[in-house]
Order: sequence, then structure tokens, then C-alpha cells
Amino acid sequence: MNTFEGVCRYCGDVKPVMANSQEEADDVISTKCTCPGALLEDRKEQLLQNLQLTIGPACEESGLDAFEADIVEAITSLAGLVLQDRLQQVSIAHGKTTLKIAINTKGQVKITRTEKKAVAAEC
Ligand SMILES: [Zn+2]
Repeated sequence: MNTFEGVCRYCGDVKPVMANSQEEADDVISTKCTCPGALLEDRKEQLLQNLQLTIGPACEESGLDAFEADIVEAITSLAGLVLQDRLQQVSIAHGKTTLKIAINTKGQVKITRTEKKAVAAEC
């Protein structure tokens, strides 16, 4: 470990940090930085995790069917645009599932997955 001048890759802020390489030092400073670019990156990470939990392989633990990988990828791109507030809402119909990604009143990206299920009985 040596002291490096870590550079935030979003705002260019430089801070000394103990690390094994310049790259590691830049990683540490970029992660710790509170500039808008670094915060957006944190939110992107969180959004990816939320997508994994709602439509990715991790949703199967909740008894839901995961979407196909290429569809998850396409939705991830769209969700990224919602996060940047370039799209205000995305709605997707996939079989019996409806997915809505929108900015809520707190400015957070909310993912809502709804499954259509119906039971009917007659006699
Ligand atoms: Zn920064």
C-alpha cells in the first residue's frame, strides 16, 4: 500500500488515499465522492439491483418468472433514461405481466411489477 492521489472519475476531484495502484485509488475516491456524477452512479447501481429483484434471475426467489436476458437488458437501458429524468415513465406489457418504471413524488425511480391472475368458479 502506498499513498496515491486518487482522482474522482466524475468530477476530477483529487484526494490522497492509501491504495495498491492508481486505478484502485481512483476507484476509492470515485466511490466516496459526493459529486452529482458519483451519486448518479450509486443510484444506477441501486437501480440495477432493483431490476434484478423485480425482473432478473433474482426475482425467481420471490416466485416470479424472470424476463429473458435480452429483454432485461433493453428495460435496463430504458430505466436508465428514467433515472436521468429523460423519460418520465416507461410501461411494458410482457405476457401476463405489466411493468411500470416511473419517478415518484420523492424523485426516486419506482419499479412496479403487476401479475394478472384470475380465479373463477361456477356451479
Ligand atoms: Zn466526484
